[in-house]
Amino acid sequence: MRIGSPMEIWEYLPGTNCGECGEKTCLAYASLLKDRKKSLEDCKPLFEPKYADKASKLMDLLAPEVREVKIGVGARTMKIGGEDVLYRHELTFFNRTALTYDVWDTMDEAELRVRVKEITDWRKFYVGEFLTLDAIAIRSVSDDANTFATCVKCVAEETDLPLVLCSFNAEVQEEGLKTVSDRNPLIYAADKDNWSEMLSLAKRYKVPVALFSPDLNMLNSLAVTFSSAGIQDLVLDPGTYPTGNGLRDSFSRFVQLRRAGIGEQDKQIAYPLIAVPMTAWQVLEDALEASYWEAVIADTFILRYADMMILHSIEPHSLIPERTLVANIYTDPRRPVSVDAGLREVGNPTAESPLFLTTNFALTYYTVESDIASNKIDSYLMVVDTDGLGVEAAVAGGQLNANVIKETIDSHEIGKKVKNETIVLPGLAARISGETEDATGWTVLVGPRDSGRIPGWMETSWPPENAS
Ligand code: SF4
Repeated sequence: MRIGSPMEIWEYLPGTNCGECGEKTCLAYASLLKDRKKSLEDCKPLFEPKYADKASKLMDLLAPEVREVKIGVGARTMKIGGEDVLYRHELTFFNRTALTYDVWDTMDEAELRVRVKEITDWRKFYVGEFLTLDAIAIRSVSDDANTFATCVKCVAEETDLPLVLCSFNAEVQEEGLKTVSDRNPLIYAADKDNWSEMLSLAKRYKVPVALFSPDLNMLNSLAVTFSSAGIQDLVLDPGTYPTGNGLRDSFSRFVQLRRAGIGEQDKQIAYPLIAVPMTAWQVLEDALEASYWEAVIADTFILRYADMMILHSIEPHSLIPERTLVANIYTDPRRPVSVDAGLREVGNPTAESPLFLTTNFALTYYTVESDIASNKIDSYLMVVDTDGLGVEAAVAGGQLNANVIKETIDSHEIGKKVKNETIVLPGLAARISGETEDATGWTVLVGPRDSGRIPGWMETSWPPENAS
């Protein structure tokens, strides 16, 4: 989407300010549409026949630079691509890299069901949300159509996650598709040898398809062939080679493709990209080394520019860094990652429990809260609104100051609960302790710089010596 101002959208809207979209004016709606906070479907009048030309213009205008492709159905549908910028700070990224973990059709059934369940149910709490995994890739190792179909059926029974069917053999693919085509799986993959059969399957079963070739001219040619035949939901795999020059060249191809799609607006190749870091397992025999290297490759391609990836290791040392990096990269830079200001109770505090202070930057808040809670320190936690900044930056920028602290105490009536009138400032805010004492009239103690050291600080500094 290359739109400079909401006015460029507004001129194609009906302009009646009818309010059906939930906004008072068409211009307000145009502004939200530009930021993708509303969708075109929210303006029902636009789809009346008399506005057909305008609707079609707007669809073109609003289409993202990289096509958005949906895999799966229902609540866990996976959206990939749909990006407009090369760098997050230029706007934001809209769809995070989807992490897909593999199973294979030669697995013992009980083992298969356990692994599928593990991938489906995996959750980790991080900065206020539960991180989950996105899809399951079913690999045909047997190259036998019936064995593959049995495996696909078994996986489909165990999970509602989107599925990726992995085989270069069209006969094997078709047996899998017969079982789960209603789940809108991704076919992986068509290449220079099998493209004709895979194209027929994609058309017959109306499913998205991945195209594979490390030769970018061939990849381009495959993309043009499929899109000319009416298959637009494409995902491109330019090859992920795990070591040495192969890895360097793989990285370079991802960058070239994304630059062509966004920087040069080459629509022929502007599709989501898939990386396959599990190729690490082809070159490393030791499981620990392979899972470690797989995570290194995955993290490299999360940064440049994989929209989805197929992985093998579900060991925490591999999976947690991958999923955490995705969570960190795909935050919206237009909005601080923050929590509400106010007073929280950790454990079962009494009127004489310590009152710790922190800022409303989500990462800081959840770290402090977790450090206090996991050490079973019954206490209060005062969260100050610092526009989503962490302690050090907020002190330096003036968002955390004595007046804001006083306002927080007053507006949340903290004095009604904390009778000892003592605040524990983070060590990084030590320099505002004096002014905070003056502004609030409360006793101010300086805690540790790192909330992980609060338990040790409690042993030496709480309760304060002058407490009654
Ligand atoms: S529904 Fe459409 S026509 Fe009505 S106010 Fe919203 S944008 Fe304007």
